Amino acid sequence: MRAIKNTNPKEAQIYLIGSGISSLASAVYLEKDAGVPGANIHILPYIRNIKA
Ligand SMILES: Cc1cc2nc3c(=O)[nH]c(=O)nc-3n(C[C@H](O)[C@H](O)[C@H](O)COP(=O)(O)OP(=O)(O)OC[C@H]3O[C@@H](n4cnc5c(N)ncnc54)[C@H](O)[C@@H]3O)c2cc1C
Repeated sequence: MRAIKNTNPKEAQIYLIGSGISSLASAVYLEKDAGVPGANIHILPYIRNIKA
């Protein structure tokens, strides 16, 4: 499998694991400085008591 490098921040899909301060700060800089749309930044929080 060949990785395709995405150089357009508008098309980036970012997944941040955990909703701690580092994820929230990353989201701010990704949007503010890198130009990634907020809708393309996905924060995956740890949710307890999920029944599979
Ligand atoms: C009692 C206490 C007081 C503190 N006081 C200060 C202070 O005054 N000033 C200061 O600068 N720092 C303080 N700190 C330190 C500061 O809280 C941490 O350094 C900082 O929160 C670390 O941020 P982080 O984003 O790396 O991790 P965290 O904030 O711990 O975030 C990690 C996140 O990932 C989630 N997570 C974990 N595993 C998974 C998983 N498998 N899937 C999805 N999500 C997951 C967790 O639920 C959590 O939300 C304090 C810490 C403690 C414990």
